[in-house]
Amino acid sequence: MNVFEKIIAGELPCKKVLENEHFLAFEDINPKARVHVLAIPKKSVKDFQSADSETLAGLSGFVKEVAKKLGIEKSGYRVISNIGADGGQEVPHLHFHILGGEKLGGF
Ligand code: AMP
Repeated sequence: MNVFEKIIAGELPCKKVLENEHFLAFEDINPKARVHVLAIPKKSVKDFQSADSETLAGLSGFVKEVAKKLGIEKSGYRVISNIGADGGQEVPHLHFHILGGEKLGGF
């Protein structure tokens, strides 16, 4: 099991932000911004490229709920999904990084 699957299974702790039947959001352990939360599906999906459209649509709606819960929906935020080796993906389980809470630098 990868680290996110262990979190979903309750075998590893996380700082939970929001959860519903299909998705989970928790704080990134190594934050790159004042707010850095990860949103993941509970079902096993390797990455954005292999995800079905229904999962991506559901996860997108969930990200917007998370942004509201974090109070950053009006100030703005950034959503990133790293895909595969060139994308710099470390954990092989689909996730959206939600970054905000401050003015983010360019890239
Ligand atoms: P990526 O490079 O897109 O696969 O991002 C993986 C992210 O997962 C990184 O930002 C890590 O800091 C984060 N991460 C790894 N292990 C944990 C953990 N146990 N709890 C929370 N975040 C984690």
